[in-house]
Amino acid sequence: MLDRRIALAHLPTPILPADRLGAHLGLEPGRLWVKHDDLTGLAGGGNKVRKLEYLCADALAQGCDTLVTGGGRQSNHVRMTAAAANRLGLACTVVLGGQRPERATGNVVLDELLGPEIVWAGDLDYRGLEAAITTTAARVAEAGRHPYAVPVGGASPIGALGYVQAAGELVGQLPEVEVVVVADGSGGTHAGLVAGFGDHARVLGVDVGTRPGLPEAVMATAADAAVTAGLPAPVGACRLDGARIGAGYGAPTADARRALDLAARLEGLVLDPVYTGKAMAGLVAAVREGRIGADGPVVFLHTGGMPALFATPYASWVREGVSDDEEWRGGGAGATAR
Ligand SMILES: *Cc1c(COP(=O)(O)O)cnc(C)c1O
Repeated sequence: MLDRRIALAHLPTPILPADRLGAHLGLEPGRLWVKHDDLTGLAGGGNKVRKLEYLCADALAQGCDTLVTGGGRQSNHVRMTAAAANRLGLACTVVLGGQRPERATGNVVLDELLGPEIVWAGDLDYRGLEAAITTTAARVAEAGRHPYAVPVGGASPIGALGYVQAAGELVGQLPEVEVVVVADGSGGTHAGLVAGFGDHARVLGVDVGTRPGLPEAVMATAADAAVTAGLPAPVGACRLDGARIGAGYGAPTADARRALDLAARLEGLVLDPVYTGKAMAGLVAAVREGRIGADGPVVFLHTGGMPALFATPYASWVREGVSDDEEWRGGGAGATAR
């Protein structure tokens, strides 16, 4: 199954050392790396492109002519799905949570530019959104087309194959990797990596608050993805940090803000408020508490998401939000005490 993909991403993505940030956290040089899946290409890039390589191959194999998916208003997944459809000459219908904003910002600008049919579905929770994707696909079918329904975040076992493949790519680049830290929305990226490594211990997910029942979903999708890929069932139990969510999905937090500042000012690395900022906050806490980094290199998987930074209200959060200057000006020495 791992060879049933359509090339959409620029692969392999680079893996770069982050020694200045590592030193700030008390790690030796060569102990902190960033795997740049923000650089997968395709309309701004991000982790969903790897999943779409497998999902689109499946859609074409089934003779489908329309991709149907959905997400929150600032969904990166929706943007990349619309771009993949255009690249392959497929039609695309997307369900977005909330009302059509008066002024487009962030990902919505790119969605409107890419031009899928957009259904503004009002305020929906995760299950509501999944149900809206299903009913929208049914409507597309009634109109005589052949829809391929992609779940929120592309988190089917077939989508997760993109990250089974990525785990192999990463081990080729850094064989001694101890653990990968990743933002968990739907959990599909985490699940694919676990299936690829064959061991839950190798991945620390940071829950950003998208999905109820996340640990169970990661366990189930990892097991299914391993079967789909023809690999042994992964050992161990799902590792998740559930303490970075703050008030909920998309809600800015003070520790994510500090993580954005650290990455930007020590590494020139731009993170986003919804996913990668919270994931980096989880990495910082895990290193400082000695939960990761003692046995080998830690890899931060940069999953993309920069367009959200240019969306209201995050743009003003960057200017006016919490910014603890002491934190990043400390550089290496003495920083591990925090
Ligand atoms: C979707 C997304 C994630 C989460 O990926 P899942 O596979 O849904 O868990 C992380 N980061 C960014 C930037 C995303 O867009």
